[in-house]
Amino acid sequence: MRIFKFGGASVKDASAVRNVLNVLQTTGIEDLGIVVSAMGKTTNALEVIIATYQENDASYLSLIDDLYDQHLKIIEDLEVPVPGMEDLWLSRFRESGIKKDIKAIIESLKGEMLRNQSKNYSFLYDQVVCHGELLSTRIVSAFMNACGIPTVWKDARQLIKTDHKYRDAGVDWKKSGKLISQSCQGQLFITQGFIGSDDNGFTTTLGREGSDYTAAILAYCLNAKNVTIWKDVPGVLNADPRVFKNTVLLNKMPYNEAIELAFYGASVIHPKTLQPLQGKKIPLYVKSFINPTKEGTVITSVETIEPLIPCYIVRKEMVFLKISSRDFSFIGENNISDIFQELSVHKMQVGLLQNSAISFSICVEDKYHKINELVNDLESRYKVSYVEDVSLYTVRHYDGDSVEMIESDKKVLLKQRAQETLQLIVKE
Ligand code: ASP
Repeated sequence: MRIFKFGGASVKDASAVRNVLNVLQTTGIEDLGIVVSAMGKTTNALEVIIATYQENDASYLSLIDDLYDQHLKIIEDLEVPVPGMEDLWLSRFRESGIKKDIKAIIESLKGEMLRNQSKNYSFLYDQVVCHGELLSTRIVSAFMNACGIPTVWKDARQLIKTDHKYRDAGVDWKKSGKLISQSCQGQLFITQGFIGSDDNGFTTTLGREGSDYTAAILAYCLNAKNVTIWKDVPGVLNADPRVFKNTVLLNKMPYNEAIELAFYGASVIHPKTLQPLQGKKIPLYVKSFINPTKEGTVITSVETIEPLIPCYIVRKEMVFLKISSRDFSFIGENNISDIFQELSVHKMQVGLLQNSAISFSICVEDKYHKINELVNDLESRYKVSYVEDVSLYTVRHYDGDSVEMIESDKKVLLKQRAQETLQLIVKE
Protein backbone atom coordinates (compact mmCIF):
# COMPACT_ATOMS: atom_id res chain seq x y z
CA MET A 1 0.00 0.00 0.00
CA ARG A 2 0.89 3.64 -0.30
CA ILE A 3 -0.19 6.23 2.26
CA PHE A 4 -0.91 9.86 1.30
CA LYS A 5 -1.26 12.62 3.83
CA PHE A 6 -2.99 15.90 3.02
CA GLY A 7 -2.46 18.63 5.62
CA GLY A 8 -4.68 21.58 6.53
CA ALA A 9 -3.40 23.84 3.72
CA SER A 10 -4.15 21.21 1.09
CA VAL A 11 -7.86 21.14 2.05
CA LYS A 12 -8.29 24.73 3.20
CA ASP A 13 -11.09 25.64 0.76
CA ALA A 14 -13.10 24.30 -2.16
CA SER A 15 -10.41 24.81 -4.77
CA ALA A 16 -7.87 23.06 -2.52
CA VAL A 17 -10.24 20.08 -2.19
CA ARG A 18 -10.68 20.01 -5.97
CA ASN A 19 -6.90 19.99 -6.20
CA VAL A 20 -6.78 16.88 -3.99
CA LEU A 21 -8.96 15.23 -6.62
CA ASN A 22 -6.47 16.37 -9.25
CA VAL A 23 -3.56 14.89 -7.26
CA LEU A 24 -5.38 11.56 -6.94
CA GLN A 25 -6.26 11.52 -10.64
CA THR A 26 -2.63 12.27 -11.49
CA THR A 27 -0.99 9.77 -9.17
CA GLY A 28 -3.58 6.99 -9.49
CA ILE A 29 -5.47 5.43 -6.61
CA GLU A 30 -4.27 1.83 -6.61
CA ASP A 31 -3.37 0.45 -3.17
CA LEU A 32 -3.86 3.76 -1.46
CA GLY A 33 -4.83 4.96 2.01
CA ILE A 34 -5.42 8.66 2.65
CA VAL A 35 -4.93 10.67 5.84
CA VAL A 36 -6.46 14.15 6.03
CA SER A 37 -6.00 16.96 8.57
CA ALA A 38 -8.56 19.54 9.65
CA MET A 39 -9.30 22.18 7.02
CA GLY A 40 -7.08 25.27 7.08
CA LYS A 41 -6.82 26.70 10.57
CA THR A 42 -9.75 24.76 12.03
CA THR A 43 -7.70 23.28 14.91
CA ASN A 44 -6.71 26.78 16.03
CA ALA A 45 -10.36 27.83 15.88
CA LEU A 46 -11.31 24.81 18.02
CA GLU A 47 -8.64 25.79 20.54
CA VAL A 48 -10.28 29.23 20.81
CA ILE A 49 -13.65 27.53 21.31
CA ILE A 50 -12.22 25.52 24.22
CA ALA A 51 -10.62 28.60 25.78
CA THR A 52 -13.92 30.51 25.51
CA TYR A 53 -15.82 27.59 27.03
CA GLN A 54 -13.37 27.42 29.91
CA GLU A 55 -13.98 31.07 30.70
CA ASN A 56 -17.67 30.20 31.10
CA ASP A 57 -18.39 32.42 28.14
CA ALA A 58 -21.45 31.09 26.32
CA SER A 59 -20.29 32.67 23.07
CA TYR A 60 -18.35 29.46 22.42
CA LEU A 61 -21.64 28.19 20.96
CA SER A 62 -21.69 30.91 18.33
CA LEU A 63 -18.02 30.20 17.56
CA ILE A 64 -19.08 26.61 16.85
CA ASP A 65 -21.76 28.01 14.53
CA ASP A 66 -19.06 30.01 12.72
CA LEU A 67 -17.10 26.82 12.21
CA TYR A 68 -20.21 25.16 10.85
CA ASP A 69 -20.76 28.07 8.45
CA GLN A 70 -17.16 27.84 7.19
CA HIS A 71 -17.50 24.14 6.43
CA LEU A 72 -20.92 24.65 4.87
CA LYS A 73 -19.43 27.34 2.64
CA ILE A 74 -16.76 24.93 1.42
CA ILE A 75 -19.45 22.37 0.60
CA GLU A 76 -21.52 24.98 -1.25
CA ASP A 77 -18.46 26.18 -3.17
CA LEU A 78 -17.75 22.58 -4.14
CA GLU A 79 -21.25 22.34 -5.59
CA VAL A 80 -20.63 25.21 -7.99
CA PRO A 81 -19.81 24.11 -11.55
CA VAL A 82 -16.22 24.93 -12.54
CA PRO A 83 -14.24 23.69 -15.57
CA GLY A 84 -13.22 20.06 -15.21
CA MET A 85 -16.11 19.16 -12.91
CA GLU A 86 -18.73 16.97 -14.53
CA ASP A 87 -22.44 17.69 -13.93
CA LEU A 88 -22.96 14.14 -12.79
CA TRP A 89 -20.28 14.52 -10.11
CA LEU A 90 -21.80 17.73 -8.81
CA SER A 91 -25.29 16.31 -8.63
CA ARG A 92 -23.99 13.21 -6.86
CA PHE A 93 -22.20 15.46 -4.37
CA ARG A 94 -25.35 17.55 -3.79
CA GLU A 95 -27.30 14.39 -3.13
CA SER A 96 -24.66 12.76 -0.95
CA GLY A 97 -26.20 13.96 2.33
CA ILE A 98 -22.94 15.67 3.28
CA LYS A 99 -24.66 18.77 4.67
CA LYS A 100 -26.67 16.59 7.03
CA ASP A 101 -23.52 14.73 8.10
CA ILE A 102 -21.72 17.98 8.87
CA LYS A 103 -24.67 19.29 10.84
CA ALA A 104 -24.72 16.06 12.88
CA ILE A 105 -21.00 16.38 13.73
CA ILE A 106 -21.52 19.99 14.84
CA GLU A 107 -24.55 19.05 16.95
CA SER A 108 -22.64 16.25 18.62
CA LEU A 109 -19.78 18.67 19.42
CA LYS A 110 -22.21 21.10 21.04
CA GLY A 111 -23.91 18.29 22.95
CA GLU A 112 -20.58 16.99 24.25
CA MET A 113 -19.51 20.41 25.45
CA LEU A 114 -22.84 21.14 27.12
CA ARG A 115 -22.76 17.79 28.91
CA ASN A 116 -19.08 17.92 29.85
CA GLN A 117 -18.37 17.48 33.57
CA SER A 118 -14.63 16.96 33.37
CA LYS A 119 -12.22 19.52 34.79
CA ASN A 120 -9.33 17.88 32.95
CA TYR A 121 -8.34 20.41 30.28
CA SER A 122 -6.32 18.00 28.16
CA PHE A 123 -9.15 15.47 28.17
CA LEU A 124 -11.68 18.07 27.07
CA TYR A 125 -9.24 19.41 24.48
CA ASP A 126 -9.01 16.06 22.74
CA GLN A 127 -12.79 15.45 22.83
CA VAL A 128 -13.28 18.83 21.12
CA VAL A 129 -10.41 19.31 18.64
CA CYS A 130 -10.96 15.94 16.98
CA HIS A 131 -14.06 17.43 15.32
CA GLY A 132 -11.86 19.37 12.89
CA GLU A 133 -10.58 16.15 11.32
CA LEU A 134 -14.01 14.48 11.51
CA LEU A 135 -15.52 17.34 9.49
CA SER A 136 -12.74 17.52 6.89
CA THR A 137 -12.59 13.79 6.19
CA ARG A 138 -16.38 13.60 5.77
CA ILE A 139 -16.31 16.38 3.18
CA VAL A 140 -13.25 15.12 1.28
CA SER A 141 -14.55 11.56 1.25
CA ALA A 142 -18.03 12.58 0.02
CA PHE A 143 -16.51 14.75 -2.70
CA MET A 144 -14.13 12.04 -3.94
CA ASN A 145 -16.96 9.50 -3.95
CA ALA A 146 -19.10 11.82 -6.05
CA CYS A 147 -16.23 12.40 -8.49
CA GLY A 148 -15.63 8.74 -9.24
CA ILE A 149 -13.00 7.95 -6.61
CA PRO A 150 -14.80 5.58 -4.26
CA THR A 151 -13.34 5.94 -0.79
CA VAL A 152 -14.21 4.22 2.47
CA TRP A 153 -14.41 6.65 5.39
CA LYS A 154 -12.80 5.28 8.52
CA ASP A 155 -12.85 6.61 12.04
CA ALA A 156 -9.19 6.75 13.09
CA ARG A 157 -10.27 6.25 16.70
CA GLN A 158 -11.14 2.70 15.78
CA LEU A 159 -7.72 2.18 14.23
CA ILE A 160 -5.20 3.93 16.44
CA LYS A 161 -5.31 2.92 20.09
CA THR A 162 -3.33 4.92 22.59
CA ASP A 163 -2.62 5.43 26.28
CA HIS A 164 -4.50 8.06 28.32
CA LYS A 165 -1.98 10.85 27.82
CA TYR A 166 -4.42 13.36 26.35
CA ARG A 167 -2.92 15.91 23.91
CA ASP A 168 0.26 13.84 23.50
CA ALA A 169 -0.92 10.25 23.43
CA GLY A 170 1.45 7.31 23.10
CA VAL A 171 0.49 4.66 20.54
CA ASP A 172 -0.35 1.11 21.55
CA TRP A 173 1.39 -0.50 18.58
CA LYS A 174 0.14 -3.99 19.21
CA LYS A 175 -3.56 -3.13 19.41
CA SER A 176 -3.34 -0.54 16.63
CA GLY A 177 -1.42 -2.92 14.37
CA LYS A 178 -4.11 -5.55 14.71
CA LEU A 179 -7.00 -3.16 14.10
CA ILE A 180 -5.32 -1.44 11.16
CA SER A 181 -4.34 -4.60 9.34
CA GLN A 182 -7.82 -6.11 9.90
CA SER A 183 -9.65 -3.07 8.68
CA CYS A 184 -7.55 -1.21 6.10
CA GLN A 185 -5.96 -3.79 3.80
CA GLY A 186 -6.86 -3.48 0.16
CA GLN A 187 -9.26 -0.57 0.55
CA LEU A 188 -9.06 2.99 -0.67
CA PHE A 189 -9.72 4.52 2.74
CA ILE A 190 -9.82 8.08 4.01
CA THR A 191 -9.20 8.65 7.68
CA GLN A 192 -8.35 11.45 10.09
CA GLY A 193 -4.86 12.42 11.02
CA PHE A 194 -3.94 13.42 14.58
CA ILE A 195 -6.60 11.45 16.49
CA GLY A 196 -6.88 8.08 18.19
CA SER A 197 -8.66 6.68 21.22
CA ASP A 198 -7.81 5.18 24.59
CA ASP A 199 -9.13 1.88 25.87
CA ASN A 200 -12.21 3.56 27.35
CA GLY A 201 -13.08 4.78 23.87
CA PHE A 202 -12.33 8.43 24.64
CA THR A 203 -10.64 10.45 21.92
CA THR A 204 -6.93 11.16 22.29
CA THR A 205 -4.64 13.25 20.08
CA LEU A 206 -1.03 12.75 19.05
CA GLY A 207 0.18 16.35 19.52
CA ARG A 208 -0.26 19.38 17.25
CA GLU A 209 0.67 18.72 13.63
CA GLY A 210 0.31 15.02 14.41
CA SER A 211 -1.25 13.95 11.10
CA ASP A 212 2.14 13.14 9.60
CA TYR A 213 2.62 10.76 12.48
CA THR A 214 -0.76 9.13 11.77
CA ALA A 215 0.38 8.48 8.20
CA ALA A 216 3.57 6.88 9.52
CA ILE A 217 1.65 4.70 12.01
CA LEU A 218 -0.65 3.41 9.27
CA ALA A 219 2.29 2.82 6.93
CA TYR A 220 4.17 0.91 9.60
CA CYS A 221 1.18 -1.28 10.49
CA LEU A 222 0.34 -1.97 6.84
CA ASN A 223 3.96 -2.50 5.73
CA ALA A 224 3.33 0.22 3.18
CA LYS A 225 5.56 0.72 0.18
CA ASN A 226 5.87 4.44 0.82
CA VAL A 227 4.30 7.52 2.40
CA THR A 228 3.75 10.85 0.65
CA ILE A 229 3.15 14.08 2.52
CA TRP A 230 1.58 16.64 0.14
CA LYS A 231 2.61 20.20 0.91
CA ASP A 232 2.47 23.74 -0.43
CA VAL A 233 6.27 23.73 -0.85
CA PRO A 234 8.19 21.70 -3.48
CA GLY A 235 9.67 19.35 -0.85
CA VAL A 236 12.16 19.72 1.99
CA LEU A 237 14.18 22.89 1.46
CA ASN A 238 17.56 23.65 3.00
CA ALA A 239 16.00 26.56 4.92
CA ASP A 240 12.66 28.14 5.69
CA PRO A 241 11.85 30.36 2.67
CA ARG A 242 10.02 32.80 4.96
CA VAL A 243 13.33 33.54 6.70
CA PHE A 244 16.04 32.85 4.09
CA LYS A 245 16.45 33.87 0.46
CA ASN A 246 17.65 31.47 -2.26
CA THR A 247 16.53 28.23 -0.67
CA VAL A 248 17.44 24.96 -2.37
CA LEU A 249 15.34 21.80 -2.66
CA LEU A 250 16.93 18.71 -1.09
CA ASN A 251 16.35 15.74 -3.39
CA LYS A 252 17.32 12.96 -1.03
CA MET A 253 17.83 12.74 2.66
CA PRO A 254 18.72 9.91 5.05
CA TYR A 255 16.29 9.24 7.90
CA ASN A 256 18.78 10.29 10.56
CA GLU A 257 19.36 13.64 8.86
CA ALA A 258 15.60 14.31 8.78
CA ILE A 259 15.38 13.34 12.46
CA GLU A 260 18.24 15.74 13.26
CA LEU A 261 16.58 18.59 11.33
CA ALA A 262 13.26 17.97 13.07
CA PHE A 263 15.06 17.83 16.43
CA TYR A 264 16.69 21.21 15.86
CA GLY A 265 13.29 22.70 15.05
CA ALA A 266 12.71 22.38 11.30
CA SER A 267 8.96 22.33 10.93
CA VAL A 268 8.66 20.33 7.70
CA ILE A 269 7.88 16.99 9.27
CA HIS A 270 6.43 16.11 12.63
CA PRO A 271 9.39 14.73 14.65
CA LYS A 272 7.73 11.46 15.68
CA THR A 273 6.96 10.54 12.07
CA LEU A 274 10.36 9.27 11.06
CA GLN A 275 11.00 6.63 13.68
CA PRO A 276 8.37 4.10 12.56
CA LEU A 277 9.28 4.64 8.92
CA GLN A 278 12.97 4.16 9.54
CA GLY A 279 12.19 0.98 11.48
CA LYS A 280 10.79 -0.63 8.32
CA LYS A 281 12.79 1.37 5.77
CA ILE A 282 9.62 2.86 4.30
CA PRO A 283 10.52 5.84 2.09
CA LEU A 284 8.83 9.16 2.91
CA TYR A 285 8.17 11.52 -0.01
CA VAL A 286 7.51 15.20 0.57
CA LYS A 287 5.89 16.65 -2.54
CA SER A 288 4.06 19.70 -3.79
CA PHE A 289 0.29 19.36 -4.16
CA ILE A 290 0.52 22.15 -6.72
CA ASN A 291 2.92 20.19 -8.95
CA PRO A 292 2.16 16.54 -8.14
CA THR A 293 4.33 15.14 -10.91
CA LYS A 294 7.49 16.84 -9.62
CA GLU A 295 9.93 14.64 -7.70
CA GLY A 296 10.05 16.52 -4.39
CA THR A 297 12.20 15.09 -1.62
CA VAL A 298 12.58 11.47 -0.60
CA ILE A 299 13.70 10.54 2.89
CA THR A 300 15.10 7.05 2.70
CA SER A 301 18.14 4.84 3.28
CA VAL A 302 20.82 6.96 1.65
CA GLU A 303 24.22 7.93 3.02
CA THR A 304 23.86 11.69 3.06
CA ILE A 305 21.69 14.56 1.86
CA GLU A 306 21.70 15.34 -1.83
CA PRO A 307 22.82 17.97 -2.68
CA LEU A 308 25.17 18.19 0.28
CA ILE A 309 24.77 21.84 1.24
CA PRO A 310 24.31 23.74 4.51
CA CYS A 311 20.83 23.43 6.03
CA TYR A 312 19.55 26.24 8.22
CA ILE A 313 17.07 26.09 11.05
CA VAL A 314 16.02 29.08 13.12
CA ARG A 315 14.10 28.98 16.36
CA LYS A 316 12.94 32.39 17.44
CA GLU A 317 11.73 33.69 20.82
CA MET A 318 14.09 31.50 22.82
CA VAL A 319 15.60 32.36 26.21
CA PHE A 320 19.33 32.24 26.87
CA LEU A 321 20.12 31.42 30.50
CA LYS A 322 23.43 31.46 32.29
CA ILE A 323 23.46 29.62 35.58
CA SER A 324 26.53 29.82 37.85
CA SER A 325 27.43 28.61 41.28
CA ARG A 326 27.12 31.24 44.01
CA ASP A 327 30.47 30.46 45.60
CA PHE A 328 32.74 29.70 42.61
CA SER A 329 32.38 25.97 43.20
CA PHE A 330 32.27 23.71 40.16
CA ILE A 331 29.02 23.06 38.32
CA GLY A 332 29.13 19.28 38.57
CA GLU A 333 26.86 16.37 37.65
CA ASN A 334 24.62 16.92 40.68
CA ASN A 335 23.98 20.52 39.74
CA ILE A 336 23.33 19.64 36.13
CA SER A 337 20.88 16.96 37.10
CA ASP A 338 19.22 19.45 39.49
CA ILE A 339 18.98 22.08 36.73
CA PHE A 340 17.50 19.59 34.27
CA GLN A 341 14.97 18.54 36.86
CA GLU A 342 13.83 22.17 37.10
CA LEU A 343 13.68 22.45 33.30
CA SER A 344 11.52 19.38 33.12
CA VAL A 345 9.21 20.62 35.89
CA HIS A 346 8.74 23.90 34.00
CA LYS A 347 8.33 22.12 30.66
CA MET A 348 11.24 23.91 28.97
CA GLN A 349 12.74 22.37 25.90
CA VAL A 350 16.50 22.75 25.59
CA GLY A 351 17.95 23.75 22.20
CA LEU A 352 21.61 24.15 23.15
CA LEU A 353 23.75 23.76 26.21
CA GLN A 354 27.31 24.45 27.18
CA ASN A 355 29.07 24.13 30.49
CA SER A 356 32.28 25.46 31.98
CA ALA A 357 33.78 24.91 35.41
CA ILE A 358 31.51 27.33 37.23
CA SER A 359 28.69 28.05 34.85
CA PHE A 360 26.12 26.34 32.72
CA SER A 361 24.58 28.07 29.68
CA ILE A 362 21.39 26.89 28.03
CA CYS A 363 19.06 28.10 25.34
CA VAL A 364 15.47 27.06 26.02
CA GLU A 365 12.08 27.36 24.45
CA ASP A 366 9.60 28.85 26.91
CA LYS A 367 6.41 27.53 25.33
CA TYR A 368 4.33 27.86 28.46
CA HIS A 369 5.71 31.21 29.68
CA LYS A 370 7.29 29.81 32.81
CA ILE A 371 10.63 31.59 32.67
CA ASN A 372 10.02 33.76 35.74
CA GLU A 373 9.02 30.75 37.83
CA LEU A 374 12.06 28.81 36.64
CA VAL A 375 14.46 31.64 37.40
CA ASN A 376 12.89 32.14 40.84
CA ASP A 377 13.33 28.49 41.69
CA LEU A 378 16.91 28.34 40.41
CA GLU A 379 17.91 31.56 42.16
CA SER A 380 17.49 29.92 45.53
CA ARG A 381 20.60 27.86 44.71
CA TYR A 382 22.43 29.57 41.83
CA LYS A 383 23.32 32.89 40.31
CA VAL A 384 21.11 33.26 37.23
CA SER A 385 21.12 35.76 34.39
CA TYR A 386 19.09 35.54 31.21
CA VAL A 387 18.32 37.22 27.90
CA GLU A 388 14.84 36.82 26.44
CA ASP A 389 13.81 36.82 22.82
CA VAL A 390 16.99 35.44 21.30
CA SER A 391 17.17 33.31 18.14
CA LEU A 392 18.88 29.97 17.94
CA TYR A 393 20.40 29.29 14.53
CA THR A 394 21.44 25.75 13.73
CA VAL A 395 23.40 24.98 10.58
CA ARG A 396 23.89 21.36 9.57
CA HIS A 397 26.82 20.80 7.18
CA TYR A 398 28.01 24.34 7.72
CA ASP A 399 30.74 26.03 5.74
CA GLY A 400 32.58 29.37 6.02
CA ASP A 401 29.93 31.24 4.04
CA SER A 402 27.08 30.08 6.21
CA VAL A 403 28.81 31.25 9.37
CA GLU A 404 29.53 34.64 7.85
CA MET A 405 26.00 35.05 6.61
CA ILE A 406 24.51 34.62 10.07
CA GLU A 407 27.16 36.56 11.92
CA SER A 408 27.31 39.55 9.58
CA ASP A 409 24.39 41.57 10.91
CA LYS A 410 23.62 40.06 14.28
CA LYS A 411 24.98 40.08 17.80
CA VAL A 412 26.28 36.60 18.59
CA LEU A 413 25.87 35.62 22.25
CA LEU A 414 27.27 32.11 21.94
CA LYS A 415 28.68 29.94 19.19
CA GLN A 416 29.14 26.18 19.33
CA ARG A 417 30.71 24.02 16.66
CA ALA A 418 30.53 20.26 16.32
CA GLN A 419 31.69 18.25 13.33
CA GLU A 420 28.42 18.50 11.38
CA THR A 421 26.52 21.14 13.28
CA LEU A 422 27.09 24.77 14.09
CA GLN A 423 24.81 26.56 16.54
CA LEU A 424 24.63 30.24 17.27
CA ILE A 425 22.55 32.13 19.78
CA VAL A 426 21.96 35.63 18.46
CA LYS A 427 20.10 38.73 19.46
CA GLU A 428 18.62 40.15 16.24
N1 ASP B 1 -5.11 19.47 12.74
C1 ASP B 1 -4.00 19.20 13.60
C2 ASP B 1 -3.20 20.46 13.83
O1 ASP B 1 -3.48 21.49 13.20
C3 ASP B 1 -3.14 18.08 13.14
C4 ASP B 1 -2.39 18.31 11.84
O2 ASP B 1 -2.80 19.17 11.07
O3 ASP B 1 -1.39 17.64 11.62
O4 ASP B 1 -2.30 20.46 14.61
